Amino acid sequence: MSSNKMDRRKFMKNVSATVLGIATIPWLEGTSFGKSEQGAKVEQRTLGKTGLKVTSVSMGVMNCSDPAVLQRAFDLGINFYDTADCYMGGRNEELVGKAFEGKRQQVFIQTKVHDGDEKKMRASVERSLRRLRTEYIDVLIWHNFNSTKEVSDPKLFEFMTKMKKEGKARFTGFSSHSNMASLLKEASQSNQHDVALVSYNFTHSKNLKEAVALAAKSGIGIVAMKTQSGGYKKEKMGGLNPHQAALKYVLTDQNVSCAVPGVTTVEEIEECAAVMRTLLTEQNIDELKRYHGFLRGRICTFCGGCSGECSYGVAHQDLLRVVAYHEGYGEDRLIREALEDKELAKNIQLCSDCSSCSVVCRRGLDVKAQMKVVQTLLRPS
Ligand code: SF4
Ligand code: SF4
Repeated sequence: MSSNKMDRRKFMKNVSATVLGIATIPWLEGTSFGKSEQGAKVEQRTLGKTGLKVTSVSMGVMNCSDPAVLQRAFDLGINFYDTADCYMGGRNEELVGKAFEGKRQQVFIQTKVHDGDEKKMRASVERSLRRLRTEYIDVLIWHNFNSTKEVSDPKLFEFMTKMKKEGKARFTGFSSHSNMASLLKEASQSNQHDVALVSYNFTHSKNLKEAVALAAKSGIGIVAMKTQSGGYKKEKMGGLNPHQAALKYVLTDQNVSCAVPGVTTVEEIEECAAVMRTLLTEQNIDELKRYHGFLRGRICTFCGGCSGECSYGVAHQDLLRVVAYHEGYGEDRLIREALEDKELAKNIQLCSDCSSCSVVCRRGLDVKAQMKVVQTLLRPS
């Protein structure tokens, strides 16, 4: 046995011992730390049954408006880009389309569509194709599922099948920020999805990790988002910089095909790309613990601990996400975009009429108080 292997084994034992019993980093125990390959620039993993070879660190374009960032990502070898019809009122797709015109064969583009009647959904896909300057979308995602019913909805499946047959989408799937474990379990059985884009980070439970494993085993390609949980800039965290540690952490799960951290600057994409083929270290774990402490009581980390607890069936994590966008990303544009979601508006009303909140946050968040913040943020001006 090489000393290198011995060191790694010893390190894992130590880390497991350190972390055992500490609820803040839930699934590190038994985690495979992978291999560090010196000199290799990028790591590619297979995106489930799609067979696409995607870079383990890919790019969430959502908040980016600078073409230089996409150019830099491409130069770094990153080949998978996640956008959506609704980001920046369509300008985000336009940015992606322009950046990869003439390079279309070298990248994979994932975009999204919202539930609606067929005419509306078709129009949305056509708009996406025009903005993306392409004839096909590599992965077309249903935006933001909350319930298992949506995962197996035959109407949605029928539409996605049509998109594939017409050559508009090569592969299809869904995204979710809440109730992810149940959704992934349902998707593993329904056999209707090629890809799942789920919120997945170091705050999440082992239950979600097991659901990710189950979905991956059934052939679903797992794309992890919200990997850094919060989007806080270094300055706001008093110099703490846990972003690489958080990204490394989620990639230790080999059932994750790729992560799509949302980046806005060249510096950030370089920082993220550098994570590929590196090892999680003891210092990283320490950073994550401190970051977890920083997040406690500030924003929802989408850990899933309180899924389904609202007595009125409100997808409350979608509302808490608005506060996180405001607090962490500092992106009021996302809040304005959220206002366009009719379901969200209905839920805000339900919360404002509700006298006592039945949701208990496992992370010390005052959910009712956060709901009040949401109401202030989403009040039309
Ligand atoms: S305030 Fe009431 S309606 Fe809103 S999440 Fe809490 S229990 Fe549900
Ligand atoms: S409100 Fe708290 S328990 Fe619920 S998902 Fe967010 S962080 Fe987890």
